[in-house]
Amino acid sequence: MEDGPYLNSRVDPLRDSFPELPRDPSKRTFLRAAGLLVAGSVLPHLQADEVPQVAAGSGRKVVAIIFGGVRRAETFSAEGLENIPHLAGDLLPQSVFYSQIRNEGVTAHFNAISSILTGNWQRVDDWGNLPPTTPTVFEHFRKRLGAPRSDTWMVASNKALTSQIGASSATDYGPEYGANVVFPKQLIITAVADALRQGRTATMADRAKIEAELESTLEGSNYEGLGWTVFDAADRLDPRARNTIKEAIANFVRSGGPTSGDELTFYIAREVMRRFAPRLLVVVFSDVEAAHFGSYAFHLTGIRTGDRLAFQMWQEVQANSEYGGKTTLLIFPEFGRDPDGSSTNGFFNHRANAESTRLTWMMALGAGVGKSQVVERPVRHIDLCPTLAALLGCPPMEALGTPLVELKG
Ligand SMILES: [Zn+2]
Repeated sequence: MEDGPYLNSRVDPLRDSFPELPRDPSKRTFLRAAGLLVAGSVLPHLQADEVPQVAAGSGRKVVAIIFGGVRRAETFSAEGLENIPHLAGDLLPQSVFYSQIRNEGVTAHFNAISSILTGNWQRVDDWGNLPPTTPTVFEHFRKRLGAPRSDTWMVASNKALTSQIGASSATDYGPEYGANVVFPKQLIITAVADALRQGRTATMADRAKIEAELESTLEGSNYEGLGWTVFDAADRLDPRARNTIKEAIANFVRSGGPTSGDELTFYIAREVMRRFAPRLLVVVFSDVEAAHFGSYAFHLTGIRTGDRLAFQMWQEVQANSEYGGKTTLLIFPEFGRDPDGSSTNGFFNHRANAESTRLTWMMALGAGVGKSQVVERPVRHIDLCPTLAALLGCPPMEALGTPLVELKG
């Protein structure tokens, strides 16, 4: 196999983006094997004028996968590649890869996701007690294009998020135009905790009883108390959504395989795709946040799980007839984590005003990608929301961020 284009060219965009990548030829061979250096050379390219044109609002879909905090050191660096074999090996060569994307706002979960979803740097309560102050892309999409609620979903593992993430407090927007927001892990944890507290389940392993608890929990009406919100008039899940989630969780519990919060989140997100085929689905994986407990090993396990689940999501997008050929998949972290040796305890946290914490990456795949390439131009998290809107065929949003020109709706 011939060298990839970046080895032969005078300018090496990947190298410039990642100065930590080795010049050692043997390591280069490894990287090439990993697919990192053949980005753009393996698949036939569509030129911009060959990209199929689709009218605004005509059915394009977007799936966004957001990881919690991961540093470049553990992902797109020479040492980090082994943690992301699917992202680096399977997906990078067919992606538009933004190597320098910055969170310039608050590097805490609720504010970071709120900024991503609104295109403005949000500085609301870190724990999700208040909604974002400007419209989310969910509201914009639903209001401007008349999309039903079933077209907008967020499925998330992160316990720092709340249902307030699904809609803003902006005038003329708000819950009436909000997304379905589901926290599957919290639902299970709450059901199990209730069962344990009431002495009806001896151990976590008692899956049959847990399943019964889950079902009885879902029969109740207090979804708010479980971290769920579906913003319909009765403040309840509509029966179709409720049954879907109930069956999916029961099947997941019954399957008895190795579980994590992100596995469950993936499973539920996939069920939502298969039953409702939403046009805008945001999935938040958070196993990497085990770092807060000081376990580097669990943090790396979370990265590897996210890498695998992101790849499985891409496979689902391609195999699902409602998504294949018309969906753009975006994959990116919320932010990095603090640098080793920092006063904030290094990888444990994500609150240092440092490049390690603010500078991350994003990968885009699928229908909105005309030509696989590495984009080194610095971009910001607030540019993602207007990009999502454009990919969905929405009119421009009033936001601080601007759409990424490489991605087309
Ligand atoms: Zn965190």
